[in-house]
Amino acid sequence: MRAEIIAIGSELLTPYKTDTNSLYLTEKLLETGIKTDYKTIVGDSRETLYKAVKDASKRVQLIITTGGLGPTEDDITREVVANFLKKELILHEDIVSDIKKHFSFRKLKMPEINIRQGFVIDGAEIIKNSVGTAPGQWYEDENIKIAILPGPPSEMKPMVENFLLKKLKKYSSFHYKTRSMRIVGLTESAVEEKIEDIISGLKNPWVNILAIPGQIEINIMARGKEGKDEALLKGEEVFKKVYDRLKEHVFTLQKDKFEKVIGEMLLKSKRDIAVAESCTGGLLANRITDISGSSAYFERGVVSYSNRAKIEMLKVKQETIEKHGAVSKETAKEMAEGIRKLADTHYGIGITGIAGPTGGTMEKPVGLVYISLSTPEKTEVFQYRFIGRREKIKWQSSQQALYHLWKDLKGDE
Ligand code: ATP
Ligand code: MG
Repeated sequence: MRAEIIAIGSELLTPYKTDTNSLYLTEKLLETGIKTDYKTIVGDSRETLYKAVKDASKRVQLIITTGGLGPTEDDITREVVANFLKKELILHEDIVSDIKKHFSFRKLKMPEINIRQGFVIDGAEIIKNSVGTAPGQWYEDENIKIAILPGPPSEMKPMVENFLLKKLKKYSSFHYKTRSMRIVGLTESAVEEKIEDIISGLKNPWVNILAIPGQIEINIMARGKEGKDEALLKGEEVFKKVYDRLKEHVFTLQKDKFEKVIGEMLLKSKRDIAVAESCTGGLLANRITDISGSSAYFERGVVSYSNRAKIEMLKVKQETIEKHGAVSKETAKEMAEGIRKLADTHYGIGITGIAGPTGGTMEKPVGLVYISLSTPEKTEVFQYRFIGRREKIKWQSSQQALYHLWKDLKGDE
């Protein structure tokens, strides 16, 4: 069985909103053994949606729509799909009363227009919405299967987990098993070189390597029947081999964020940290504090952008800046040591560099960044030359700072 996902919403055709529902859906479908052949994005227009559904019905057996189930005029999915199937829409009073309850729970009266959400395609099964108002719908006949899901991810996902996947299980005797790892401290080409002999030519399992600056993710996916299937066993074997080659660089097997893994290590080692940032402008502190519970180990972060701030707040010596410059090994070191002392923490990190695109010179080009990690035992400084745009250089700087911190934490495990 092949699938097509139709994401509905005019905002998805603008630069302001990305269709992420289909990413989630393709992942879940794959796990169930169903491949997605097409993804379509259409605006809130009856004509284009009708055409999209019709086209999809010619090329796949399963259509999943998301969005357009709200109560307003431009929420047209129910109507258009019913039209396409040449079925009536039937009002279900019990859905309307559920929606009323949803409103009264919030001490609100249901607006009349919400009644629209109580209409169900004749012959379709209702998929309960445990989070919002509009239920989803499941329709199947000998020609086509259609799942109609709401747009908000928080409403769509439970319907997939609790209803759709169970429904689809019976159409697929295969499933996909994915093993993943995330890696730091190696470039994509270095990773490929290290594992090329293991993964080259593999079809099942197959391996994909995704790179974001400063981080590589490897996914090993095997397609097989439930139980002791050969491809699944092979997938496990490939995973173990790849892991063995790269394990010093692997920080998670669960797709965890780097800053989350580091947070857990800081907690476990009962160490705390403070950071002094110049060119990253607070990005490192922001990433660390994106993790809930970070107050247990993050003491403070300062954005010491000017020379004066470095001198006043971190006690960087004026001579150091005059002699070596604000972007220098020496300044980075004094920043890290300064913040560590000031905050009285185990770790201090200092970052100073040139994020560009202006401000570079021959000796100090754009992308030159010094990262310093200070501990009670020692202070180290690392020099980098990143390439790319301003945001990328800032990101890379925060990532490498976390990398050195991670290595230190790991070294003591
Ligand atoms: P509502 O009852 O909230 O109107 P709906 O089913 O009509 O739900 P939409 O109006 O299409 O859904 O979308 C509601 C919100 O859900 C959008 O503002 C958007 O934030 C999110 N959303 C919709 N489609 C997608 C998508 N494909 N990917 C990610 N988010 C989406
Ligand atoms: Mg809507």
